[in-house]
Amino acid sequence: MDLPEEVIKKDFPGRGNGLVAAKNFPAYSEIFRKMPEVWVPDSDYRSRICANCLLFAAATGDSIQAGTVAKVFSCGKCRSTYYCSQECQLQDWKAYHKRECKILATLAPQVPPSTVILLMRILLIPGNKRQRFYSAMETLRSHIDDRRNTEDFETSVVMSKGAKEYSGTELTLETVVEMLCKIMTNSFSIPLPTYDIVGIMFDTSISLINHSCDPNAVIVFEKNVLMVRAVRPIRKGEEIYITYTDNTMPMPRRKKALRTQYFFDCQCTACCPASLRPDPRNDFLCPTCGTAFQPYSTNSHTGVQLYTDIQECSSCGYEFPDSPNVVYNIEHKIANTGLAEVFDIENDRMAREVLLKLKELYKLKTIPIYRSPFIEPMASLIPYCIKHADWNMAIGLLGIEYFMQDEVRSQLPEYAPVRLAHMMRFVVVLLYVILDGECSKTLPQYSIDFRECLWGLVVELERLIPTVYGENSAFEKHVREKFKHVMLKQMGPVLARMHMNSTLEKLGWYKEMDKIKTYAMDFLDRV
Ligand SMILES: [Zn+2]
Ligand SMILES: [Zn+2]
Ligand SMILES: [Zn+2]
Ligand SMILES: [Zn+2]
Repeated sequence: MDLPEEVIKKDFPGRGNGLVAAKNFPAYSEIFRKMPEVWVPDSDYRSRICANCLLFAAATGDSIQAGTVAKVFSCGKCRSTYYCSQECQLQDWKAYHKRECKILATLAPQVPPSTVILLMRILLIPGNKRQRFYSAMETLRSHIDDRRNTEDFETSVVMSKGAKEYSGTELTLETVVEMLCKIMTNSFSIPLPTYDIVGIMFDTSISLINHSCDPNAVIVFEKNVLMVRAVRPIRKGEEIYITYTDNTMPMPRRKKALRTQYFFDCQCTACCPASLRPDPRNDFLCPTCGTAFQPYSTNSHTGVQLYTDIQECSSCGYEFPDSPNVVYNIEHKIANTGLAEVFDIENDRMAREVLLKLKELYKLKTIPIYRSPFIEPMASLIPYCIKHADWNMAIGLLGIEYFMQDEVRSQLPEYAPVRLAHMMRFVVVLLYVILDGECSKTLPQYSIDFRECLWGLVVELERLIPTVYGENSAFEKHVREKFKHVMLKQMGPVLARMHMNSTLEKLGWYKEMDKIKTYAMDFLDRV
């Protein structure tokens, strides 16, 4: 394992290894960057992405994605691995593809799942390098005994058998299964700045970074380079934490997700608060006056989660009808809607269903709009709106996301990368709305100057990108070249010059965005 000099591996008695900072890091600074040891493009993206540098091929409709190349070509032998250039092909050939190409060629046109290819890449590491890699893997957790009792274990065995057979490794099946379990516990997905997941990676030093629901660092990628960045000041000797799960969920659901997927009981500061700190992720509201409650607390000694039930609202005196089971009943209602599991809208019927459920939940007035399960399902409706050119709904949802959800999220700074992805999507939708010219029925009543909104959002995006991706990132360059250019062209030379030399305040950006906010709030009441 090549550990960067900015961090030190430390053994924490009782809970295993972790990474600590070797010096002080200011908020939004880079802790370190490295190329992961192994990575593989996601199956869905395999023919559209360079397997080496992970640049995206700009097909029609994709040209708005960050970090694009004109096209990718396939390896002439296996025809299932794609590259953006000969340099990339050569680099990947030397590093991994030389040993797997023949196998993939035999299997073509079938392509194994990306996890199997990742496992094969590891099994096929040659000579000395292999010894070093395997010994770095040794200390990683597989949770194989926990996994044996899960439904997916059978699939893992089948996948391991495949990888063993294709690679011709002399390792026993049991060892290969254990390796796969280690990969499942310790790998990370690779998101574009737009938050599309384009690949999976595994790295023995990154695996040392532990989870917290209140993390101080975040992982972002620029092409195939991984950056660990501080989201708040980190002092020398302090442990570095990232988050492993959907961090917008309230505490009980986060704990459950971590237990199911990673087999540990989270004891982080947000799950076992020594001093109870308001955490909007856990809020419930009084349906009459809107006062927020924090019904969860934990016993800081045992880590056991307690419900502090609500009987009446301390602000307005409203008596909850189903006390003392208010919190339980609300949680039960949320679970029944199934909204917490919605991450993708697959068809029109599902979109209508999700919208209906969101509406019902919203009418209860006990779950704030900035909280799960509103966040993910609303966000997944946006691509559906784009597909159907439903700008009425798109602007409504984006307005809610921007003003009501991300503002709350931004108190949790680890969301900065997601926030940028959302702003990027906002920009894209506004561009569509402008190009489409014709807006639906209700939007025109608000007389929003969408060009002004768009300009301001691009300026804001440009300002915020360096806090997440560092100075001069490809993402920043992309935003500047693609969007600013388009905008300036649209405006004509006089207006363009005025915009280049003015501030958002003077241009009235905030005023226009406020109109979107008003529209979004009305939209909520109308749905
Ligand atoms: Zn490339
Ligand atoms: Zn090949
Ligand atoms: Zn936690
Ligand atoms: Zn009240």
